[in-house]
Amino acid sequence: MRIDDLDTPRVIPGMADDIMGTLEQLGFEWDGVPLWQSRRGEAYADALERLDRNDHLYPCCCSRADIARIATAPHGEDEIVYPGTCSHGKDPSREARSIRVRVPSEEISFDDVVTGRVTQRLADCCGDFVVRRADDLFAYHLATVVDDADSLVNQVVRGADLITSTGRQIFLQTLLGYDRPSYVHLPLVIAPCGSKLSKRDSAVSIAAGINLELDGGILLTRALAFLGQDVSAVDQAAPPKEILSAALLSFDTELIPKCNSPFVGAL
Ligand SMILES: [Zn+2]
Repeated sequence: MRIDDLDTPRVIPGMADDIMGTLEQLGFEWDGVPLWQSRRGEAYADALERLDRNDHLYPCCCSRADIARIATAPHGEDEIVYPGTCSHGKDPSREARSIRVRVPSEEISFDDVVTGRVTQRLADCCGDFVVRRADDLFAYHLATVVDDADSLVNQVVRGADLITSTGRQIFLQTLLGYDRPSYVHLPLVIAPCGSKLSKRDSAVSIAAGINLELDGGILLTRALAFLGQDVSAVDQAAPPKEILSAALLSFDTELIPKCNSPFVGAL
C-alpha cells in the first residue's frame, strides 16, 4: 500500500484514510505498513544525488510560459516538449527553477500485457523532463520509480492514462540501475460522453452514495465484468473477500478490453 501524496499542497486531508477504508471494505489487504510519499524525501534526494553525480541532470530556469513560447506544437493532451533551452548551461543572470534529466535520442520499448508492444522516443514526446519541480517538490516519475524499487514491486497494474509516463519511468529505472517491472495498463472508466473522469468531477469516489457493506459484492462483480472477466458464476451477495479470492483463480488478462468505456448503469 502506497499513498501517492507527494504533491502535499494539493492533498485533501482525510482522503487517504477514505481510500484505505474503502479498499478494506471491498476485501483488499496489503503487506506491511503503508508507504507515504510525503515522508520519503530522503530516498528521493539520494536518487537525485546519484543522477547528478553521473551528470544526467541540469538546472533549468524556464517558466511554463517561457517553454510554451519557444516549444513547437504541444504533443498529446497537455504535454509540451521541452525545447532544451538550458541543456547547455542556463542563462547566468536567471535563477534556476527546476532540475531536468537529459533524455536519450534512442527509442524505449516495453511489452504491455494489455496493449502489447509500446515504443516511445522521449526526445519527441516530452524532451528533457523535470525531476525536481520549481516548487522544490520531487517529481512524480522520480518518486514512483524509487518507491517501486524500494518496495520490490515487480508488476505495475494501473490505468491506461499512465501508459505515456512509462517510457520516462523505464528510463529513470535504467539510470538508477533498478530492475524493470512488468506493466499492465487497464482501460479507464470514462464519462458517458467519452471524456475522462477526473478528480475535478464531483461523483467519482467509489464510496459516494453506496453502502459498501451491502453492495460491495455487486460493485466488485461490475468491476470484474468491466475488465472483461466472466462473472456468470459469481455470487454477488457473497462477502467481497470471497469474490476476490475466486476472481484471483480465474482472472485472465487476455480478456481485458483494450478500449476505455463508460461504466454503464447505476448500482
Ligand atoms: Zn530551461
